Amino acid sequence: MNAIILSVGDELTSGLTVNTNAAWLAQQLMEIGIETAAHITVGDKQGVIEFAIREAIRRAQLILISGGLGPTEDDVTREALAAALGEELVRDETALAQLRQWFASKGRPMSASNERQAMRPASAICLENSAGTAPGLRAVVGDQLIFVMPGVPKEMKVMFARAILPELKQRAGEQITLVTKINTFGHGESVVGEKIRDLMLRGSIPGVGTTVHDGIVSVRIYAAGTRSVAEELTRKTAAVIRQRLGPIIFGEGDDTLELAVGKLLAEKKQTVATAESCTGGMIAEMLTNISGSSTYVDRAWVTYANAAKVEEIGVPAELIAKHGAVSEEVCKLMAEGARRHARTDWAISTTGIAGPGGGSDEKPVGLVWIGLAGENETATRRFIFPGDRFGIRQRAAQMGLALLRWKMMGAGGVI
Ligand code: ATP
Ligand code: MG
Repeated sequence: MNAIILSVGDELTSGLTVNTNAAWLAQQLMEIGIETAAHITVGDKQGVIEFAIREAIRRAQLILISGGLGPTEDDVTREALAAALGEELVRDETALAQLRQWFASKGRPMSASNERQAMRPASAICLENSAGTAPGLRAVVGDQLIFVMPGVPKEMKVMFARAILPELKQRAGEQITLVTKINTFGHGESVVGEKIRDLMLRGSIPGVGTTVHDGIVSVRIYAAGTRSVAEELTRKTAAVIRQRLGPIIFGEGDDTLELAVGKLLAEKKQTVATAESCTGGMIAEMLTNISGSSTYVDRAWVTYANAAKVEEIGVPAELIAKHGAVSEEVCKLMAEGARRHARTDWAISTTGIAGPGGGSDEKPVGLVWIGLAGENETATRRFIFPGDRFGIRQRAAQMGLALLRWKMMGAGGVI
């Protein structure tokens, strides 16, 4: 079964509202194995909505429409659907009674314009809206199904889950598409893609693809079939991906790098402190974003000025004068000073040039030294990160966390 998702509203075509309904619906359909062939977005004009519905009927077995069911003059999806079906609008007495009851329960008067909401194309049925006023609609053309839902995302979701999804599941049979997201940090998308190239070839089963968002490269597995088939396909492919990508994988689904680091620290009952220059506290912010981080985050310094590096964590002023603040020597002593002052198991330090100004041939924009002090040694690494000021700082903060994670895992030479 394939679907077309039709979104209605001037606020969508003008770009004032981002069309989140269509994305949400497509994901819901994918999970039950229904492929979305197209997303169509039209404004609040009866003619163009009718045209879009007629086109959709020619091409898809399932048409999901959201928006334009409201009581106002500019909500005309109902009229457009009736026209596309070649039917009259009739009053639905049950829906009208429900509308009256809804207003009565809220102690609000019901206006004549609200009565329009109880109209439906003659052959359609109304779907109850338990989260708002506008009833939804269900119509059948041959063996094709058309559903209309309110535009308000909350109302749309409740109606879809209660009144539409059960029927679609039945139609779609036992088929599902299981989507698994494996998150990595450390290599670019092209390097990751190269390592799992054979799995990503067009037409491979299960499907495998990569996306990148804020420096995190995610590998998604799309496995279709009955639940047990999809799970088995996913398990096998995930094992291959894990084996190929190794320690750059830090989690699945919504897992973050800071969550992965936090779990390790909590498990090992170890603590961490930070002394940040160019990242200005981003590492501390990420670490403390995790609930329960007070068990392993001890303290954090933003030692931005040279004097702060000297006064707060004891970096010798002569050393800064000799090598500059952005240097391996200063980075090392920042990490060691932070660890010594905080008496933690670990300390992470950063010092670099986030730009856009302040770069030189010797120390270009994007240059960041990251230090990691532990019980036995202090490691320092030099990076040149691409991107704008925010991107460079974010990448540096993520790398600080990643280096700590790899060190704790005993995974050397990852990147
Ligand atoms: P009602 O008027 O009864 O609230 P409706 O079906 O007429 O329902 P719309 O007027 O189209 O709904 O939209 C109501 C609200 O929902 C608007 O604020 C709009 O921005 C938001 N909305 C509508 N469609 C979408 C969409 N596709 N994605 C995200 N938000 C949407
Ligand atoms: Mg509207």
